[in-house]
Amino acid sequence: MSPPARASQTRTLVRAAGLAAFRLALVARALEGAPLDARRRVVIVPTRASAEVLRQTIEASVLGPGRSAVVLPDLLTRDEWIRRMHQSLPGAPPLLTRTAREVLLARAARHAARRTRMGGAPFELRAGLVAELLTFFDELRLRQRSVRRFARALFDELRVERGTDRGSEGLIHQASFMGLAFLGYERGVAGSGGLDEHVLRRLLLAAQPALSFDHVVIAVADRPSDPRGLWPADLDLLGRLDACRRIDVVMTEETHDAGLRERIEEELPGIDEARQAPVGHRPVLLSPPPGDGHAASEIDDPPCVVSRDREEELRDVVRRIRARAIATPGGRAAPTAVVFQRPLPYLYLADQVLADAGVPFQVFDELPLASEPFAALVDLVLAMARTGGTREATVALLRSPLVEFLVDGVPVDGGDVAALEHVLIARQTTGDASSYEAEVEGWGGGRSSRERVDVNRARRAAVAAAAAARHLEPVRAAGRASAQIATITTFIREHERPGVDAGPAEERWRRARAAVFGALDDLTQALARYDDDPFDEDALTARMHHALEAHTFAPRRGRAGVHVIDAVAARFGEFDHLHLVGLVETDWPERSRRSIFFTSPLLTTLGWPQESEHSKAEVAAFHDLVGSAARTVTLHAFQLEGDAVVALSPLVRALHGLPVEVRAPPPAVRTFADEVLTGSISPEALTEKCRADWLALRLRRPPLDDVRYRGRVDRRDPSPYRVTAVDAYVQCPFKYFSSAVLRLPEERDEVAGLTPIERGTLLHGLFERFYQEWQRGPGGTITAAEIPAAVEVFTRLAQEALASLSPPDRALESDRLLGSIASPGVAVRVFEHEAAAGGRIVAREIEQALTGAFTFPFLGGFGQRAIEIRGKADRIDIFDDGSLRVVDYKLSRPPDKESVQIAVYAHCARQQMEARDGRPHPIRDAAYLAFAEDKLATPIAKDRAATAPEVEARAAAFAAAVDRIESGDFPPRPQRFDLCQWCAYAGVCRKEYRMETDAAEPV
Ligand code: SF4
Repeated sequence: MSPPARASQTRTLVRAAGLAAFRLALVARALEGAPLDARRRVVIVPTRASAEVLRQTIEASVLGPGRSAVVLPDLLTRDEWIRRMHQSLPGAPPLLTRTAREVLLARAARHAARRTRMGGAPFELRAGLVAELLTFFDELRLRQRSVRRFARALFDELRVERGTDRGSEGLIHQASFMGLAFLGYERGVAGSGGLDEHVLRRLLLAAQPALSFDHVVIAVADRPSDPRGLWPADLDLLGRLDACRRIDVVMTEETHDAGLRERIEEELPGIDEARQAPVGHRPVLLSPPPGDGHAASEIDDPPCVVSRDREEELRDVVRRIRARAIATPGGRAAPTAVVFQRPLPYLYLADQVLADAGVPFQVFDELPLASEPFAALVDLVLAMARTGGTREATVALLRSPLVEFLVDGVPVDGGDVAALEHVLIARQTTGDASSYEAEVEGWGGGRSSRERVDVNRARRAAVAAAAAARHLEPVRAAGRASAQIATITTFIREHERPGVDAGPAEERWRRARAAVFGALDDLTQALARYDDDPFDEDALTARMHHALEAHTFAPRRGRAGVHVIDAVAARFGEFDHLHLVGLVETDWPERSRRSIFFTSPLLTTLGWPQESEHSKAEVAAFHDLVGSAARTVTLHAFQLEGDAVVALSPLVRALHGLPVEVRAPPPAVRTFADEVLTGSISPEALTEKCRADWLALRLRRPPLDDVRYRGRVDRRDPSPYRVTAVDAYVQCPFKYFSSAVLRLPEERDEVAGLTPIERGTLLHGLFERFYQEWQRGPGGTITAAEIPAAVEVFTRLAQEALASLSPPDRALESDRLLGSIASPGVAVRVFEHEAAAGGRIVAREIEQALTGAFTFPFLGGFGQRAIEIRGKADRIDIFDDGSLRVVDYKLSRPPDKESVQIAVYAHCARQQMEARDGRPHPIRDAAYLAFAEDKLATPIAKDRAATAPEVEARAAAFAAAVDRIESGDFPPRPQRFDLCQWCAYAGVCRKEYRMETDAAEPV
């Protein structure tokens, strides 16, 4: 019900012809009356950035020669205004934080789901969904609907379809659940010792307290028009408060005509109307010349400057701003704004592009907290806590520059961590951090150094890892959720490295740090007070992620120069020149938020506005913005978002009525560092030392046709070769160079669960133990009849090995090894393959080391050479006729058909056994068993007769590859180009040079 017009309250709707007049109206009302009158006034604006820009506009309008100070009214966002209202109720319970309210609602939702006749929750109660539920509840109440009325309206709507349609049944279940959860939440708030804003409104209306203001200027639209606007309940509250004597609602003619007036009149009946005199100027819309590569070809009127991608777009804007400043006497840029709809990535790009071009700029928008490095530290600690310290989790945490671990009073450094990582990889360790000291001792074997690795340094890192894992144990074991999160925050506080570089980076780090601790401490307190059941590991991670993702923070950045601001804040600024960027359909207009719970028609019955009201408001706001500059406006768009082509915003087509002036693009001037440094410039001409050094280094490079760009190095001495490494050479020589010569670590995607190395170690260890036990028991070939017995032995061994894994990893690996309803496990497949192949196996060699000098065919079989190798055959089956089957397990797919690995193993195994036994051991079979393939075995030849020649041919290919390695030839030349797509060294590969040179070579 709307508040009736009251004699004691003046309500005025101020219509302004455009945003320039809108700002004039706001400035006039902000400063109206005696200076101290402003202190009894509140201006409600959409965002904090809007408040900052409006403050600048008000100050610029009055400050100057002869006046250096002005008393400003409070410029508040809606949420800040609610908190101000709360302060006017002395002795009122504290206002609950959003996090505390989510915790209360999560508890209520769980209780609702457990009710006997509810049949569970209609969806999984993840942290993000609980937040959505709370948003829906708030919207319901702010639209002045009670929970009971919500449930009744939905049941009336759905009743006719009850029993006929599963979708409707589901919606009825969901509405019942939500209704009970909301009622439980309201009871929870009542018993919490705090209040939410819905209870606050009730108390304010009942108490009618004295307020710190009596005049409210509303400079924001309502909710259908603006997602940051006021709700019906807000306007209702303002209209009913006795102490609020005057309300001015300021709006433009465009938003007035888009439906705002009717809605305001509904909420504030009896509102009078006033008009703000129009402002004389209109901006010119600057157009690229027709046919210019920058013009959008499909748009004739008005035109838009179209760049390749967002970064190029912002660079183009900067070139225009610099050209204008250079053309201005004194080189001073007139007030200019770069206006975006979606803050990201423009806020990050501004730091690079504007700073690179030396254009000062100011930013007021907030950044997502979750993308700050300090927030990422929480993830590292969580991974350590969840896993107990797998190798990857441990190394990532110990390496983080944000934390420090002391052992014997000395910080563990990157060298210590690298030494530990080397040991853990060498030992193929799959345990957690508690086992690392023993691993280091076992590997070092009493020596102080091995393989050029300092064992003491590895030990220091192992000690630090074990201490960290012990400290974090309560995360898995604590009986209270608050204790789980407090363990993580305490750990970070105790280990964080004090500060980072001084300057803006430190300022930003401090703010992000404060915001992270603020969010997590708030969550800890809310859980301790209202809902302290412990989380399982996944729920804990999701809850902590949600706590950080829901927050933003405002790093202090420039406070002068070009404004880089969002479209909402831009309404409040006086600018001569506007550049609207990102005019593509994904950004403009701003999408309205759709409910994830109910369809639009159902929501309309609950009083939700129609989508069309939002669309009209968006078009109106865009027209206002384009016409709001004093002199020029330029529209910018781009063609590519990542690799996807994007279309121009439909709003561009809806523009009309502005004068257009064709303006040629600014002359091509080298503006950005990459342009300057790749031009004909000498290092002496650069003032910045680091740029001059870089350029000097670059100029010293050899010409691009130098063979060193093609992977050519000096001859290398023979050395022992790992067979798998030479296999990488056969795939692509530069891959070998990166891994075996430069010893670069592979770039790996983060994967859930065990890493490939950990999984490989587990699997190989299991098959090794199985076959040893099998040989001690029945022995020989596993026949079809013996498969169940073999599976039984393997299952027992697997269960012992899996016991040390975390429950999620255990479940996943158990399915892989032992099978599930969906697919057979690897063990059954291996045994079935052996049974089907037949033959009488009399002995097996498991994990057989093939190390030392072996003879290889060379020069097409005309010669021989000895090559020292290091390898290990996973399994060699020896048959009753002395023939050998050599098997290599692959977790995923078999290598390419050019692979030499299994052939070299077979070739060397034959030589080794013949030397040992003094009798022939012909190769019967050599195959990869690849567990990700439907067809398990990939033999190197179709039949037994072809196997031995193929083994010899590939052994010769191995020797040829070794010869090229020793000649120093490592071109980036993959066997197939699609290998590059998955290559772990693509980041350092010089294939571009290679391809350019190839293309230039005469055929
Ligand atoms: S990216 Fe391609 S060319 Fe470069 S190393 Fe990898 S496989 Fe070879």
